[in-house]
Amino acid sequence: VEDTVPGGEDSSEGDEESDEEDEATTKYAKIQEAKKSLPVYHHRARVMKAIQDNQVLIIVGETGSGKTTQLPQYLVEDGYTQDGKYQVGVTQPRRVAATSVAARVAEEMDVKLGREVGYSIRFDDKTTPGKTVLKYVTDGMLLRECLTDPDLKKYSCIVIDEAHERTLATDILLGLLKNILARREDLKVLISSATMNTAKFSKFFGDCPILTIPGRRYPVNVHYTLQPEGNYINAAITTVFQIHTTQATDGDILLFLTGQEEIESTREKIEQIASKLGTKIPQLIIAPIYANLPQDQQALIFEPTPENCRKLVIATNIAETSLTIDGIKYVIDPGYVKENSYVPSTGMTQLLTVPCSRASIEQRAGRAGRVGPGSCFRLFTKWSFENELEMMPKPEILRTNLSNTVLLLLSLGVMDLLNFPFVDKPSIPALTKSLESLYVLGALSNRGQITELGKMMCVFPCEPEFAKVLHTASADEKCNGVLEECLSIVSMLHETTSLFIGNKRNAAARIVSETEGDHLLYLEVFRQWRDSGFSRTWCQDHRIQFKTMCRVRNIRSQLSRCCQKLGLSAQSKTAAIKLSEVIPRITRSFISGFPTNVVQLTNSGNYKMLGRQTGALTVSIHPSSVVFQNYKENAKKPDKYLLYQQLMLTSKEFIRDLLPVTQESWLTETVPQVYQELLGKRQP
Ligand code: ADP
Ligand code: MG
Repeated sequence: VEDTVPGGEDSSEGDEESDEEDEATTKYAKIQEAKKSLPVYHHRARVMKAIQDNQVLIIVGETGSGKTTQLPQYLVEDGYTQDGKYQVGVTQPRRVAATSVAARVAEEMDVKLGREVGYSIRFDDKTTPGKTVLKYVTDGMLLRECLTDPDLKKYSCIVIDEAHERTLATDILLGLLKNILARREDLKVLISSATMNTAKFSKFFGDCPILTIPGRRYPVNVHYTLQPEGNYINAAITTVFQIHTTQATDGDILLFLTGQEEIESTREKIEQIASKLGTKIPQLIIAPIYANLPQDQQALIFEPTPENCRKLVIATNIAETSLTIDGIKYVIDPGYVKENSYVPSTGMTQLLTVPCSRASIEQRAGRAGRVGPGSCFRLFTKWSFENELEMMPKPEILRTNLSNTVLLLLSLGVMDLLNFPFVDKPSIPALTKSLESLYVLGALSNRGQITELGKMMCVFPCEPEFAKVLHTASADEKCNGVLEECLSIVSMLHETTSLFIGNKRNAAARIVSETEGDHLLYLEVFRQWRDSGFSRTWCQDHRIQFKTMCRVRNIRSQLSRCCQKLGLSAQSKTAAIKLSEVIPRITRSFISGFPTNVVQLTNSGNYKMLGRQTGALTVSIHPSSVVFQNYKENAKKPDKYLLYQQLMLTSKEFIRDLLPVTQESWLTETVPQVYQELLGKRQP
């Protein structure tokens, strides 16, 4: 069944001068019309009946059929919230999707975002208690809500959206919901998914019904390269210009890349080339979209393309299914995705660029056929597609560090991890490894029970490792008195990707002439900005993103409030600490939170991993680190030990965000169970 509703409902028709009110009315009318053209609209009665008749229901439909934006509105309209007594909660694996969809739905319902319709993502809650009836949340946030509301009593309906993505948080939620459903007969759960993997969900929920929303999908012409591409970025750029210079401008292009840095550098290259082509070719409007893109810039991907221009959306796999962008006629797919991969035996997580699954590649092609026939250019060979790719993406639970999840489950009172209803069971080594590292952090007792410290770590809206840093900085005998400093550093570390305008080294030089490491640079950035009265000009003068700093300030005040609630004091327990004592205390606090993120200098002048059983894996210092600068340019003697926040694998293993550990005793005293033996043995 294909609905043959013509597309183009969003095309602007060269509005004449009209006052604002008229414009708003027209826009609203247009939106109402667009709603009616969505596939799900024609199946409303059938869908709502099925929801009424079943406690759990799987809903499958092509991307763009209206699952995310429409279904939750139907639930509200049909009275499931009982005039505000309950909420409808909709989970999204991605923050960007949660905020942008909430904004769209608020617009459709003609209400102010944050009132009747809101969103809640980490560090940013745009809901009004007692008023919000429809709430978009990241799956991770709903998981956290289970800590304070284990039966999710606030909600009458939960929609687990994008379930096919199989993020860790979604999988755990599915397991928890299975138990909650048994206790709450009044709760409705909808599992919404693109067209993959649905039988598995149905089986998981006792063979619950699967309801399919037939979508409209126009044919998509798929092209492959004849030879494998050596450099997919160059191939992608070439393809962009081939399309742009030879095809009429009535179709936009969607290019899939793997991450922020790749997207931004490709955008620059394309802009350069386009500027050289001058006015001979139509204007190319480039709209990037990735998880860290500031909110105000996200809207550009949804802006209707002006006449005689073409839009090029450069996206991560966020545009694969979670965001529907209208007007796309051409998809360029290099076939790669960035994925976490975790090796339990070494305890290491790496972010790797890997080939996509066939299911993802099919989804991507589908994006070209939503408004009319389209084309998809795959930058790999047909043979490779048919012979080299996995059928399905691997669920995150099978390729990630489970420590945080295990800690959360334990604090929810799930004691028997092996019998928890997992959609896919994680491996025993992965579970064991996570219990081990929780023990080293002090979150578990040696009998495997969650400690007071462990419970406290769960309460923080940040990773347990950071919570441990803050706890140590306040409460530890040898480290207390540096909570304020650690709060600043931890908050800054959440936002380092979009902190500096341009080159970090140049920006850093404007702030401090010399600094030991990145943590202390971040501390100094925050301190100077605070002393400037949180000034915008200060940021401009120092090549720092003002908006990023505002987010840091917000994160900091939330973490600080959490510390206050838990009675963690910033005061030193002894007399005021000497200035020379500050850095050692900060360093010890970070060692306590990241006990195994330490590398050691070798005789050959390289750094190798320590504290993890990785043999002699050698890592390189990322050039963006001030430590790199210190050693290479300022000829500072390399420190014997470094603590790192991030390990990335690109052309080599890089460590970034580095804190020199200048005293071996800080390691052996802070984490004796790891370092006493490890370093003791090596002593001459
Ligand atoms: P599904 O969840 O089934 O993939 P959606 O509900 O996300 O479908 O999308 C339905 C329609 O809403 C699409 O036509 C899409 O373009 C539109 N839409 C979604 N978000 C926005 C937005 N932020 N701005 C404009 N249109 C949007
Ligand atoms: Mg959706």
